[in-house]
Amino acid sequence: MDLQQLELTRAAAGQPRFRARQVWEWTAAGAQGYEEMTNLPLAVREQLAAQLPFSSLELREQHHARDGTVKALFATADGRPLEAVLMRYREPRAGGTPRRGEQRERPRQARGRRSICVSSQSGCPLTCTFCATGQMRFGRNLTVSEILDQALYFRRVEELARRDIPSRQVSSSGALPAPITHCVFMGMGEPMLNLDNVLGACERLPDLGITHRRTTISTVGWIPGIEALADSELPLRLALSLHAADEALRSELMPVNERYPLREVIEACRGFYTRRRRRVFIEYVMLAGVNDRYEQALALARVLGDGSEHGRSIFKVNLIPYNPTAAGAYRGSGRESIAAFRAALESRGIPTTVRLTRGRDIDAACGQLAASTRAGG
Ligand code: SAH
Repeated sequence: MDLQQLELTRAAAGQPRFRARQVWEWTAAGAQGYEEMTNLPLAVREQLAAQLPFSSLELREQHHARDGTVKALFATADGRPLEAVLMRYREPRAGGTPRRGEQRERPRQARGRRSICVSSQSGCPLTCTFCATGQMRFGRNLTVSEILDQALYFRRVEELARRDIPSRQVSSSGALPAPITHCVFMGMGEPMLNLDNVLGACERLPDLGITHRRTTISTVGWIPGIEALADSELPLRLALSLHAADEALRSELMPVNERYPLREVIEACRGFYTRRRRRVFIEYVMLAGVNDRYEQALALARVLGDGSEHGRSIFKVNLIPYNPTAAGAYRGSGRESIAAFRAALESRGIPTTVRLTRGRDIDAACGQLAASTRAGG
């Protein structure tokens, strides 16, 4: 939904200001179209339907993975392809131990995490060698509405799922699908190259229930963007795609390292922490025989260890199992190498997790969002 257009349409129709707010409230709450906005006069709903597209994106394809992940392939009005993914995580077991800060008596539907992974550009101008998006042609930056409409789309998907559950089932399982809780800018594109529009969309996400603190911007290490994010008023999280702890290897994997070398990027992340007091996530995709050796884990710990403050690491590493891509000349590290790499980092005091791989059977996992063949024509 283009909120600027909404405002113009409202003003041109001579409608009171609160109408635009009503429309947005319905939309953010998962309404499927103008026809559901029952506190608006019918004539207004019809006028909106005729004048203002409900979404700036057209759904071209949708795939459901066995693990509940949904991938949507969209086209913009000018035919640019982009993809976004919804990841649903199972609710904790009823009798299970509550996690820290989680109270057992909280309603169960509040706990299932729903995370969306959104795109900031159609294609990507950067050419990371292991990423499928990097292999497709760069299209353009997405607008605020095109970014927001990805989130709104999944908001509607979850709202429909909620309506579909017969009340009988709700009471027996006690589990309603939760609205979306988290957003990561880890779809197509480099968010820092389109930061104004990314931030413009982020401003609206809390209306959908996604707070700034549960919204993460992931970057290849575009330093001006990291600095701008540190200066932003929104308390968003930062993730850095690092993938190698030495300059030469990183330049090989991610040519952008020639422009913004690792050492300076880490310095910028440290600056982000100093300003915001928010831990920075480090993403590290595990490539067999390339960046997964024991010495490389130690080198990574050294690079990040310089960033610890009063013994507490300001970085948290997320090891990503490599997802094969069509263009890929890489093999993913095995489970054991990933576990050993993690143990090496943790022994040096760096908090480390291994990312769950989601939606691999539908090419929705990290780096697999290419969209070129199917959306292009
Ligand atoms: N340009 C930003 C946002 C895209 S994020 C960035 O690079 O951070 C996409 C994430 O998925 C990045 O961490 C990227 O390195 C990772 N990724 C890319 N290709 C991958 C692949 N084939 N397997 C696993 N992770 C991959």
